Amino acid sequence: MSEPKYKRILLKLSGEALSTPTEVIDPSILDQYAAEIKKVHDLGVEVAIVIGGGNIFRGASAAKAGIDRVQGDYMGMLATVINGMAVQASLEKHGLYTRMMTAIKVEAVCEPFIRRRAMRHLEKGRIVIFGAGTGNPYFTTDSTASLRAIEIEADVVLKGTRVDGVYTADPEKDPTATRYTHLSFSEAIGKGLKIMDTTAFTLCQENNLPIIVFNMNKDGNLCDLVSGKDVGTLIS
Ligand code: UDP
Repeated sequence: MSEPKYKRILLKLSGEALSTPTEVIDPSILDQYAAEIKKVHDLGVEVAIVIGGGNIFRGASAAKAGIDRVQGDYMGMLATVINGMAVQASLEKHGLYTRMMTAIKVEAVCEPFIRRRAMRHLEKGRIVIFGAGTGNPYFTTDSTASLRAIEIEADVVLKGTRVDGVYTADPEKDPTATRYTHLSFSEAIGKGLKIMDTTAFTLCQENNLPIIVFNMNKDGNLCDLVSGKDVGTLIS
C-alpha cells in the first residue's frame, strides 16, 4: 500500500447522520464509522474528529421551544459532547486510543481543549475528538471543523455526508446531475452550497486548507480518499 496522501486529517461528522427514525444515536452507524476510522488510522494517518449535535439539539430551533437563541446554542454545544462520547466509546471498542477535548469544560469526562496537547495526542496516535463546538454561540460545528483543522495544522477537512459529493443538481431529483470533482472556494461560496456554512468555507479559504465533501456511509470510501483516489468533491 502506498503512502497515504494526507498525514493528518480533520473529519467532520454531523450529529444528524448518527440518527435513524427510531434511534437518536444508532449503534450500527457508530460501529460502521469506527470501523472506517480504524482503517485510515491503521494506514498511519493522524485523525481528529469534530462531531455535530443536530440529532439532539440545534440552537436555531430553540426559539420554537420558547428558549432564547444563545441558551439554545449552548444546549446544542453540549449535545455534541454526548455524541462525541458515543463516538469515543465506539472507537475504543475497536481498540483505538482516544481523547475527547471540549471547548466548554466538562472536566469529569473530557479534557479541556488545549491546542498543543491536542497535537501531542495526535502525534502519539490517539484519535482526538473535539466536542462543544467552538464554545461560542452563533457558530456551527462546520466552522468548528475549519477552525480546529487550522489550529492543529491538519492537511485537509473531510466533511462526511450521506452523498457522494457536490452535484450540479440534486441527484435524487435530477438523473442527469453529475458530481463535481473539484470546485474553487469562490465557486462553492458563490453557489451558496448548503453543504457547509460560509464561515466554515471562508476560514478554510483564507488559510489555504482544502475541504473534501464525501460519502461517509460507503464502506472503504474514507480509506480510498485518504489514499488519494478520486472520491468526493475537493474544494480548494
Ligand atoms: N453550536 C454553537 N457553537 C458552535 C458549534 C455548535 O452554538 O461553535 C450549537 C448550534 O446551536 C448548533 C448546535 O450546536 O445548531 C449543533 O451543532 P450543528 O448544528 O453544527 O450540528 P450538525 O448539523 O453537524 O449535526
